[in-house]
Amino acid sequence: MKKLRALNPALKIAIAVALFIFSSLVFPYQSHAGFITLFLSLFVIFEGFDLELFYKILIALIVGLFVGFSSVFDPAMIAEIRPVGSNIFMNFLTMALVPLVFASILTGVTSLADINKLNRIGLKTIGYYIGTTAVAIAIGLSIANVMQPGQGLSEDIKAEFKQNYSTEATGKIKSAEDNKATLFQTVQKIVPKNIISTVSGPKPDMLALIFFAVVSGLALLKLPKDKAEPVIKFFEGITDMTIQIVIMAMRLAPYGVFAIIASTLAQTQSTELLMALIPFSICVVVGLLVHVIGTNSLVLYFLAKRNPIDNFKKMKAVAITAFSTSSSGATMPFTMKTAEQELGVKKDVSSFVIPLGATINMDGTALFQGVSALFLANIYGIDLTIGGQLTVIVMAVMASIGTAAVPGVGIVILTMILVSVNIPPEGILFILPVNNLLDMCRTVVNVVGDMVCSIYINHGEEKVSK
Ligand code: ASP
Repeated sequence: MKKLRALNPALKIAIAVALFIFSSLVFPYQSHAGFITLFLSLFVIFEGFDLELFYKILIALIVGLFVGFSSVFDPAMIAEIRPVGSNIFMNFLTMALVPLVFASILTGVTSLADINKLNRIGLKTIGYYIGTTAVAIAIGLSIANVMQPGQGLSEDIKAEFKQNYSTEATGKIKSAEDNKATLFQTVQKIVPKNIISTVSGPKPDMLALIFFAVVSGLALLKLPKDKAEPVIKFFEGITDMTIQIVIMAMRLAPYGVFAIIASTLAQTQSTELLMALIPFSICVVVGLLVHVIGTNSLVLYFLAKRNPIDNFKKMKAVAITAFSTSSSGATMPFTMKTAEQELGVKKDVSSFVIPLGATINMDGTALFQGVSALFLANIYGIDLTIGGQLTVIVMAVMASIGTAAVPGVGIVILTMILVSVNIPPEGILFILPVNNLLDMCRTVVNVVGDMVCSIYINHGEEKVSK
C-alpha cells in the first residue's frame, strides 16, 4: 500500500485507467479476470490516494453511474457484481447491528441514571420524531397539490406500466398483506416473548430489541453498584467494539457503493416509463430537499443554536452512505459515530436517540408516501379530499414507527396507506420504475433527521445541566 501511495499521481491514474479498459475488454470472455481487474482499478484509486471517505464514495458513485449507464460493460455481467455491495459490504456493516443497538441503548439508559432525565429525553425524542415526520408529509402533500403530478398520463403509457410491472407490484402487495399488523398488534409485539428468537434471523425486530434494552438498563439501575458496574462496563466495551467494526466496514464502502450503483443502473430498463415519471420524481425530490435543508436548518438554527451549514458539512459522509446503501439501519452505526465524534453529541444522548431514530423516524419515506398517494389519486381520477390527505398523514406517521429501516420498505407500506384512502394498491406499479432511485434519496432524509434530532436533544440537555 505504501509503495502504491508513493507512485507518481499521473502514473497511478494511468494504471487505473489501463486496468479499467482492460477489464471492459476481457469481461465478455473471462468474467473472473474482468471482475478482478475492474476492482483492482478501483483499488488503485481508493488506496493509492489519500482521499477523505466522502470523496472516495463520490468517485465510486460517478464510476458506478458511468459503468451502469454506458454500454462499456455488458449489463448482465455488471448485474453479477451486485453481491459485493448488497451482501459483502452491507452485511459487514449490519452484522453487528443487534449487539450495537442493545449495548448502546442499555449503556445510554444506565448513564441517564436519573429517571427524570430518561423520561425527558425519551418523550422529547419520540415527540420530535413524530412532529418532524408529520411536517415532512405536509410539505410533500403541499408541493404535490400545487404540481399535481400524474395528471394527463396517457392511456397507452398506463397500459405499458401494467404490462411491465404488474407481477412485481403483486409481489409487493402480497408482502404488505403478510406483514399487515394493526396498531394494537404492533404495540403488543414491542414486548418480545423471547428476545433471542425475536432478534435472530435475517429480520430482527428492532422495536422489541430497543424495549428489551431499555428494560435491562432500568433493571441494572435498580441493582447494587457492585453488581451492575461490571455488566455496564462489559456493554460499554461491546459498544466500542461494534463501532470499531463499523470503521473497518466503511473501508469497503467505496467498493460496495460502486457495485450497488452500477448493477442497479444496469438493470434499469424502459427509460420511456422513467420519463413519464419525471414530474412525480421532481415533486418527491423537491419535497425532500425542502425538508432536509429547510426544516432541519430551522431546527439547527433556532432550536439547537448551531450553524446549519457547518453541521451539514459534517454530515456529508453519512448522507452519501445512506444514499448508496438505501438503508438507515445499515448506516446507523456510522450515523452514531458521526453524531458523537463530529457533531459533538454526548454519548448518552446519541446512543439513545440515533438507534431509536433509525427505527422509528422516517421523514423522507413518509414524504414520499404522501406525494405518491396524491400522484396515484390523480392517475386513477380519485379526488383525494382534505380528509383523505389527513388520513394519509396519520397513517404514514404511524407506519413509519413500525417500519423496518431497510431498502424498499417504503413502497410496501405505501400499499397499506393506499388501501386506507380507497386507492387501488396495485397503483404502486406506476412508481416501481423510479422506486430504487427515490429510496436512495429518502433514506438520506431519514438519516439526516436522526442526526439533527440528536443535536437538538443534546442542546436541551446542555441547557439543563448548566
Ligand atoms: N430505505 C429506507 C430506509 O431504510 C426506507 C424506505 O423508504 O424504503 O430508511
